[in-house]
Amino acid sequence: MKLEGKVALITGAGRGIGRAIALELAGEGADLVVADISQGPVDETRAEIEALGRKALALVGDVTSLESMEQVTAKALESFSRIDILVNNAGITKDNLFMRMSGDEWKAVMSVNLDGVFNSTRPVVKTMIKQRSGRIINISSVVGFSGNPGQVNYSSTKAALMGFTKSLARELGSRGVTCNAVAPGFIQTDMTDKLADEHKKALLSQIPLGRMGSAQDIAKAVSFLASDDAGYITGTVIHVNGGMY
Ligand code: NAP
Repeated sequence: MKLEGKVALITGAGRGIGRAIALELAGEGADLVVADISQGPVDETRAEIEALGRKALALVGDVTSLESMEQVTAKALESFSRIDILVNNAGITKDNLFMRMSGDEWKAVMSVNLDGVFNSTRPVVKTMIKQRSGRIINISSVVGFSGNPGQVNYSSTKAALMGFTKSLARELGSRGVTCNAVAPGFIQTDMTDKLADEHKKALLSQIPLGRMGSAQDIAKAVSFLASDDAGYITGTVIHVNGGMY
């Protein structure tokens, strides 16, 4: 097992890709702090982690609030005394053509997807620097690289995460802390279930591997970046998109 003795904190871990990452890391031996905007879903994630024989703490953590994420970090440290891996996974979409996009749709996505990464990372970094080791993994998106009509807000946040990732990697490298991103393509989750069938068909036609990805495809890449095997990788991105970009 690649992550025995490690403690991982994951945001947005109540469902979808976040839950899959939590279970994958638990399967590799990590103990988990799973946070999400509401308690019920992370309690379910916690039960699944415990069934794998690992310890888990399930907390409400709203990534739009620095105070909330400071509390999550404090509780995580109270229980486990260390945080080795932070996965910034929480994210939302509020799609609209730019001509029709409201200020609220713009701000809501900035607040979760970009401010959220600052709010979740800032409290954890001090601990990782003290430990002189740590892994920060940001969940970006293929559309942060390719662009996508109807997603000017969302793709802007996901592109911005790459600036965040590269700059933080440069700041923390000398302290033994790496910072990388995973950019999923078109992944089967609640987020993509709400797309119209026609839109899904058009997207599928652009994927050389001919299928949507699974949340587990993303979790495997995160697990690699979190492991010692990725010790010399920082400031970069792994694209997991079936070849669509
Ligand atoms: P999802 O199924 O919608 O899950 C996102 C989770 O984040 C939900 O549990 C959600 O809670 C939570 N969340 C929302 N606002 C939050 C907040 N303020 N604080 C904390 N948690 C919050 O999405 P997903 O498809 O698993 O996506 C996970 C990540 O992958 C996101 O960053 C997304 O942008 C990225 N991604 C996904 C795809 C894809 O095809 N699915 C592709 C590229 C990138 P609620 O359920 O209560 O809203």
